[in-house]
Amino acid sequence: RRRARLSLDEYERGVLAADRSVFAQAITLIESREEEDGKLAQELLGRLLPKTGKATRVGITGVPGVGKSTFVDAMGMKLIGEGHKVAVLAVDPSSSVTGGSILGDKTRMARLSVEPNAFIRPTPSGLSPGGIARRTRETMLLSEAAGFDVVLVETVGVGQGETAVADMVDFFLVLALPGAGDELQGIKKGILELADAVAVNKADGDGAARARVALGDLRSALRYSHRKRPSWEVRTLTISGATGAGLDDLWKIVEEHHTAMEASGELATLRAEQQRSWMWSLITERLERAFRANPEVATRLPQVEDDVFSGRTTPTKAADELLASFGMARTSD
Ligand code: GDP
Repeated sequence: RRRARLSLDEYERGVLAADRSVFAQAITLIESREEEDGKLAQELLGRLLPKTGKATRVGITGVPGVGKSTFVDAMGMKLIGEGHKVAVLAVDPSSSVTGGSILGDKTRMARLSVEPNAFIRPTPSGLSPGGIARRTRETMLLSEAAGFDVVLVETVGVGQGETAVADMVDFFLVLALPGAGDELQGIKKGILELADAVAVNKADGDGAARARVALGDLRSALRYSHRKRPSWEVRTLTISGATGAGLDDLWKIVEEHHTAMEASGELATLRAEQQRSWMWSLITERLERAFRANPEVATRLPQVEDDVFSGRTTPTKAADELLASFGMARTSD
């Protein structure tokens, strides 16, 4: 089915005017895998770039069931009530395997999904994890150009999701739960190092006391962790997405972080570094794709991989051989 494309000018004007229909079409353009669309999308992004970067970018992670959707719905509504425009994006690398994503499902954000000042986009389907991360970054830029001043990027605790999201936001929030015996649950190893704040969720009703105990656990666990950024120490608190308890405090923390990072110049540096590392991940990805698509490499790869696996050859020899097939001479490093 052919879809009529707008002109570059029409896309640009429409997005900047926050025209819902043009904005939606521009998102489709960015998510498209067609080459023509891709070129147009890049030109559009180039034009819009000066109008981007003004949003507060927040990443949110937590295991399934921790309460992400409920939290995003409540936080989004709170922020909209204060005059913000909120974009909610999702990064679910598992969707490239399963073909579906539970993140960013509009039915799970009942209030936000019918709110004109909110925009919710699930993980684009049919893309590799790298492809998903790229589209999400670009959708974030497009949202900023359309005037969304808060971008929430949700990810589930599987695969490369958290790192990919931490690499595209200013502030990374980890949601955790009090377990059956009051102890802290739902925090994967290594995830705390990415966190700017950890919120113990479901601190309501019977859960309130257990959440406080879990918060204590968390604080001891964090006592010896080193700072992620010079001007920021990881913050902890209890919240409830269901009752809204703690959400004001949490957003104050996000704002405080933004102010501190801006004042120290770290925000600009962080974003510049993210841009640079994004460039490198695009290069690496494209090189690997070209490498794997090379006919000679493709023919020999299964056998060579098998030889490495079974110890018949060394990884170095195998890499040399495959790279030679690709036309790359051996270089020493
Ligand atoms: P997600 O999988 O992380 O997106 O979690 P959901 O938002 O779908 O919530 C999972 C379950 O926890 C649902 O049954 C929610 O009703 C419940 N839930 C979510 N947030 C809270 C909360 O703040 N307090 C309580 N008591 N339950 C919650």
